[in-house]
Amino acid sequence: MNRVIVFDLDDTLYLERDYVLSGFVAVGDWLLAEHGKTGFAAAAWRRFKAGQRGTIFDASLAELGVSPWPGLVAGLVDVYRRHVPYIALQRDAAAWLSAPPRGTALALLTDGPVASQSRKIAALGLDRAGLSPLVLSDEWGSEYRKPHDRGFRHIQDACGVAGRDCVYVGDNAAKDFVAPRRLGWRTVQIVRPGAIHAGPPATADHAADAVIASFAELTGVLQFDFA
Ligand SMILES: [Mg+2]
Repeated sequence: MNRVIVFDLDDTLYLERDYVLSGFVAVGDWLLAEHGKTGFAAAAWRRFKAGQRGTIFDASLAELGVSPWPGLVAGLVDVYRRHVPYIALQRDAAAWLSAPPRGTALALLTDGPVASQSRKIAALGLDRAGLSPLVLSDEWGSEYRKPHDRGFRHIQDACGVAGRDCVYVGDNAAKDFVAPRRLGWRTVQIVRPGAIHAGPPATADHAADAVIASFAELTGVLQFDFA
């Protein structure tokens, strides 16, 4: 193995909006079973699709006529994060991961609550797909989320390679590419229809070396620095 291809998770290998919907359904099921309240998932999903963020749980409860008692919203967030998600790899990602180029090792670096990210990894079968290491930056603390470089350096050390032998594939120009660029990695941005964090890079340091629309293009752009 002389190069390591490292993947982001959300909106890179699967669509994060599918996880959000799956979580709202799990919370709705819980509210129905525990408190006889219907309609949460539909209300929350409508707000999410309208672009609302941060206050969806409170606003959706209000819409259902529920005045949250102490601990309710925190409990619902816990149900959301701990639910077994109904999500699937994007078809192009599944195809690429099943037959990566020879001489490449695969790894994963993702931010977010460990309870959520670990269940996503299991639901997508990534714990059985030959990616190693699988790095959840929140296991060290949320202060180590990208753009912190700890996860990238950890993977270099774990794989025994230099930065120039590594590639990071992610979707979010706001945080995915700054640190690996500084470490000498190559970077690839995948821009998927339906991804949540769309938007151009804020500076040249935030931009990826290559931008692709599908993993069908990935092996082609990986040639750029291994010629
Ligand atoms: Mg992402």
